Amino acid sequence: MSDVLAVGSDGVADRILAGLSRIAVVLRHRGWVDATELGITPTQGQILALLASRPQEPLGVSRIAVELALTKPTVSDSISTLVRKGLVEKVRSVSDGRAVELRLTLRGGQLAEGTSAWPGFLRSATLALNEEERAVFLRALVKMLRTLQEQGQIPVTRMCVNCRFFNPFVYTDSEQPHHCGFLNAPIGDRMLQVDCGDFDPSAEERREEVWISFARKE
Ligand code: SF4
Repeated sequence: MSDVLAVGSDGVADRILAGLSRIAVVLRHRGWVDATELGITPTQGQILALLASRPQEPLGVSRIAVELALTKPTVSDSISTLVRKGLVEKVRSVSDGRAVELRLTLRGGQLAEGTSAWPGFLRSATLALNEEERAVFLRALVKMLRTLQEQGQIPVTRMCVNCRFFNPFVYTDSEQPHHCGFLNAPIGDRMLQVDCGDFDPSAEERREEVWISFARKE
């Protein structure tokens, strides 16, 4: 038996990891190139992109550290630099006068546009998948993100399976079996969100119930 066949299903998992690591290399490299062109570090670029993607959400140092899986001192240092460069400003929280929130300045917002857009080469690589492959890939990604979340490696992600508006498999239509209460409409696996602006977290118990129901149907 060849080595390739002998490794069995664990070999498939290893090859998926190898593929993901290649993509991570591209993203890291691209992050450096893009950030350098903008005169900031990749971490500063990530902070700008996060603030740009959550304009309504009060984000302080701690929350940003959790969202980006960075240490608080790292985030604090980067924010001090961004404030000094006039890209971010600190404002007092309306709900808690002692807390400080971070906002993009006008110039920071303009710069964030350059850091948030997915590079064209990555978009075209994703579009190289046919519709069915994309739906399978998206569902697999949701599963991986959920596992990482359960392990405490990433915070609760703003995706459908964590959202109080999500009801899986309530319709018989196999193309659109789920219901989004926010849209008040059926949605299919192709429409599953992994970073939804309308996300509202569900209680932990409900999250578990939804996941069991979602994951059961393969
Ligand atoms: S609001 Fe967004 S995250 Fe929530 S169920 Fe609807 S599409 Fe999914």
